[in-house]
Amino acid sequence: MAQPKTYHLITLGCPKNDVDSEHFERLLAGGELLPVLNAADADAIVVNTCGFIEQSQAQSMEAVQLLAAGKRPDQTLIVAGCMTQLYGAQLSSEVPAVDHVFGVGQWRDVAKLLQVDVDAVHDIPEHAKVTGPSAYLKISDGCDAPCTFCVIPKIKGGLRSAPAGLLVKEAQRLVEAGAKELVLVGQDTTAWGEDMGLGVARGLPGLLQILSEAVGAETWLRLMYAYPSRVSDQLIETMAAIPNVVHYLDVPLQHGSEATLRRMKRPHNIERVHEFVGKLRATMPDIVLRTSFIAGFPGETEPEFEELLAFAKTIGFDHAGCFTYSRQQWTEAVDLEDQVPDEVKHERRERFMVQQQRIATKKARRFVGKTLPMLVEGSGEDEDGNPVVAGRTYREAPEVDGMVLARGRAEAGRRVRVRIEESSEYDLFGRVV
Ligand code: SF4
Repeated sequence: MAQPKTYHLITLGCPKNDVDSEHFERLLAGGELLPVLNAADADAIVVNTCGFIEQSQAQSMEAVQLLAAGKRPDQTLIVAGCMTQLYGAQLSSEVPAVDHVFGVGQWRDVAKLLQVDVDAVHDIPEHAKVTGPSAYLKISDGCDAPCTFCVIPKIKGGLRSAPAGLLVKEAQRLVEAGAKELVLVGQDTTAWGEDMGLGVARGLPGLLQILSEAVGAETWLRLMYAYPSRVSDQLIETMAAIPNVVHYLDVPLQHGSEATLRRMKRPHNIERVHEFVGKLRATMPDIVLRTSFIAGFPGETEPEFEELLAFAKTIGFDHAGCFTYSRQQWTEAVDLEDQVPDEVKHERRERFMVQQQRIATKKARRFVGKTLPMLVEGSGEDEDGNPVVAGRTYREAPEVDGMVLARGRAEAGRRVRVRIEESSEYDLFGRVV
C-alpha cells in the first residue's frame, strides 16, 4: 500500500464504538495522516462496524458494500470492529473490494497498517476530542456475564477494566478540552475493578470518588449501563455523597418476569430490584431512572409479558426503551425453543411503548416549575425568529433521552440555568434565567 495521506473514518453503532473511534483518531492525531470529511477524498477509508444485533450487523454490512462499490482502485478500504470480529471471513469473501479486515481491540494494528508510528504515540495523547459539552469515558471493556441473548462477551471477551490512573489522566484531558460532563460507559460499568480484585465497595464507588477529585466538583459524572445485582448500598451512598455524580442511573433490566429473566440468565430477583430502587429514591428523591427491556424473548408467554408491563408500571421509569428480541448467532438463546413470532414481538413492544409514554409524561411533569442547570448543545431561532437553545439537564443522558428546549441565548458548550415551564413525554421546555 502506498503511503496514505488522508483517511475517512465511519463509525457505526453505539456510544462505546464512538469511544473506540475517538481513541483510534487520537492514535493518528499529530501525525502526517489527515482526516477528511468525504470518503471520496480519502486515500484510506476505515469503517468501525457494529455487531450487537442482527439489524446492526446488516446495517454495517450494507454500509461496507456501498463503500466497496464506490471505491476507487487507489483507495484502501479497511473494516474493523464488532461485526468483523464475528463475520470477518464472510465479509472478505462476500465483499472482495475490502482490503483489510481487523477485529475489535486492533486499532493500533490499523494505525500501523496506515504507517503511523504508534510506538511514538502515548496511549492517551494530548488531543482529547470533545464535541459539545459531554464526553464519554470508557472505563472498561468486555463482559463476564452469561446473558443468553447477548453476543458481546464473544465479541469483546471478558471484563477488562481500565486502570484508575489512566482514567484520571483521560478524564482530566477531556475536561481541559471543554467537557462539562463525563458519561461513564462500559458493557457493565458496575463491574469496574472486579478483574483487579476490587470488591463492590472499592470498585466503582472508589473510582467515582477518585474521578470526582480529579475533575473537580463542576464536572458532572453520569453512570450508564449498571448491572442490577451490582447496584449496591455503597454505590447508592457514593452517588448521593459526591455532589458532581448526577442523580441519574441507567440500569438495563431486560425483563420484569422472573421466569423470563431465568431463561435470559439475568439477575432474576425482582424483589431485589424494588429494594434498590426504593433505596435510590429514599437517598436521592430527585433520582432519574432509565432502563431498557426486551420484548418477545423465546418462551415469553402473554402472562410473562404482562408481568413486565406491571413491573414497569409499578416502578415508573423516567426513561425506558424496549427492543424486540433478535436472534443472534453464537448465543445460547438462538436455539431456544418457542421463539416468539415477529408480529407478537412487535405488538408487545408497541403495547409497552404506549404504557411507557403515559408514565414518562407523568414523570416529566415533576420538573415543571423547577430551575435546573443545563448543558447547552446548540442554539438557533424558533419560527418567530426568537432565540432558543437546546440542551440537557441531569435528567437527560446524551443521545438516548429527550432534550430541553429553552427560550433565550447561550453558546453551545456552556452551562446555564433554565426554568422549566412545560413538559411532554420526552422533552422539557422553558427559558434561560
Ligand atoms: S451484561 Fe450486557 S454486555 Fe454483558 S452479557 Fe449481559 S447484556 Fe451482554
